Formats: sequence, C-alpha cells, structure tokens
Amino acid sequence: MAVKPASELVINWHLTEACNYTCRYCYSKWHADGAGKELIHNAASSATLLAEIYRHFAPTPRNHARLGMKWQSLRLSIAGGEPLLYDREIVRIATQAKAIGFNVSLITNGSRLTRPLMAELAPQLSVLGLSLDSALPAINREIGRADRHSLVLLQEELSEIVALGRKLNPDLRLKINTVVNALNFTEDMSPLIRQLSPDKWKVLRMLPTVTSDLSIADYEFAEFVDRHTLLGNIISAEDNSDMVESYIMIDPRGRFFQNSLSGGGYRYSAPILDVGGEAAFRQINWLAKKFISRYTAEASEYMA
Ligand code: SF4
Repeated sequence: MAVKPASELVINWHLTEACNYTCRYCYSKWHADGAGKELIHNAASSATLLAEIYRHFAPTPRNHARLGMKWQSLRLSIAGGEPLLYDREIVRIATQAKAIGFNVSLITNGSRLTRPLMAELAPQLSVLGLSLDSALPAINREIGRADRHSLVLLQEELSEIVALGRKLNPDLRLKINTVVNALNFTEDMSPLIRQLSPDKWKVLRMLPTVTSDLSIADYEFAEFVDRHTLLGNIISAEDNSDMVESYIMIDPRGRFFQNSLSGGGYRYSAPILDVGGEAAFRQINWLAKKFISRYTAEASEYMA
C-alpha cells in the first residue's frame, strides 16, 4: 500500500482522572506514584507542557524528519476523566492551545456542558466529542453513567446545546464515541444518533485493559455494528485489536503513556516537563515506532 501523508496528528491529553460518572469499564486510571499532581491545576505548568508538546509535534520539516512521517496539522484532544469538572481550566487550556497553533478538540460525557460554557468553547474547538453509550436512562445507570444523585444526561437539552455550538462555530465537527458492552450491545441507538447528527460515530468495543466486567464476544460487537449500518459512513468501528497502541497519549501528570501489549496496564515515560518532549517520547520509542508505521500506512483519515 502506498504511504500517504496523514492529515492531522492527534495528541490526546487526559487532563484529569476525576469524573462524576462511575462507568464499570472506565480505563481512565493512571498510577500517581511519585509523579506529582495533575498539571491541570497549575496554570504555569500546563502552559509550559502545551508549548513543549507543540515544539515536539508541530508539523515542521525538522519534526517530520525526526519522527519519519509527515502530517499537516496538529490537534490537541482534551480528554479525561471528565474534563468539564474543571471548566475554567479547560477554557484556559483550549484558548492557549489554539493560540499556540493546535487545532483543539474536547471529549466529554456531556453532563457539565451548559449553554454559556458551549458559547465559550465553540470558537476554540474544531471537534466536540461526546461519549454516549445508551439512549436509555436505566441502561446508563446500570453502566454507571449517572452522577451521585443518579442523574443521567438529558438528551433534548444536550441536542440544543450542540445546535448552539454549531451555530456559533459552523466549522465545529461533532463526534460521538460509544463503548459497546454487555449492557448496550442489543440496543438500537439510531434515533439518538440521528437526532444529534454527528459527523462521525465511533463505535468502540469494550477494551478489557483495567477490567473485563461488561466485555462482549466478537459476534455481539458485530451484531451491534450491523444493526446500525443504515446510518452509513459516519460509523467507524474499532475492535480491541485496533485500539492497542494506536494513539499518542499523555496522562494527567504530563507523561506519555501507552497500553502494554503484554497486559498489566499502562507504561509511562518520565514527566515531559522533567526531561523534555523528545527524551520522554524516546522512552516509549518501541511503541512509537509501531504507531508510526501503522499511522502512515493506514490512517490518512485518522481522527481520534
Ligand atoms: S464518563 Fe468516561 S471517564 Fe467518566 S467514568 Fe465513564 S468512562 Fe470513565
């Protein structure tokens, strides 16, 4: 297969482990041992990290030569936990990142997304990602997608907030992520997906990195995907094998991390602010090389 230049390199910064939901399969859990606090709470440190990441991954000839691949733009994907538990910090970081030169995306469970917050964020974002696993309140509660008052997402309200974001930023793309698991694999989510009308619906099979609770068989994942084929080419399905080592990821304490092929959770680099982006990335080099070969061969349409 011919090697094509990838259009956009995506760096996923998981800014916090905190979340108001308790999904049973949640894999947003990182070892804190000796690595300090989450950087999101330190404005100076998070600004320095952004600048360092941009320096290391900006689409310059030097960086292309150093990493042995080409890309045309760089996107910071802000993820969690639930980033919008810290809405002031997220607005600050998204604004700083855009000013530096990143495209910026945000992945949220939607529960803290209000109209005023959408009005602040929409001009900064190129992609809004919503993680939605069910249209049914009872299933959402059983998965753990409810806050401590047992409140689940209000879909009508969410739909209006998304419409506001699109009005304020007509270029804003909407992406929905759904983790297919033992509680939702029989569901038809088409009405909800049609209502929100995303540009992309990413359907991910529950990945047993941290727990195998709610895992499903191959045919159950395939049934879910088949049930939604009428939605057309907005669907992107990722089975478990597609998801291992596919993304450049930074943890809340500013370390690169990757899934380990041999199991046992994540592998980490030293903190980027301690050793610099280049040295930290080299520490996961054996993973990065695999990523690069897959990325350049397959992922010209890559979108995390
Ligand atoms: S919404 Fe995301 S971060 Fe929060 S518990 Fe669920 S999977 Fe984990």
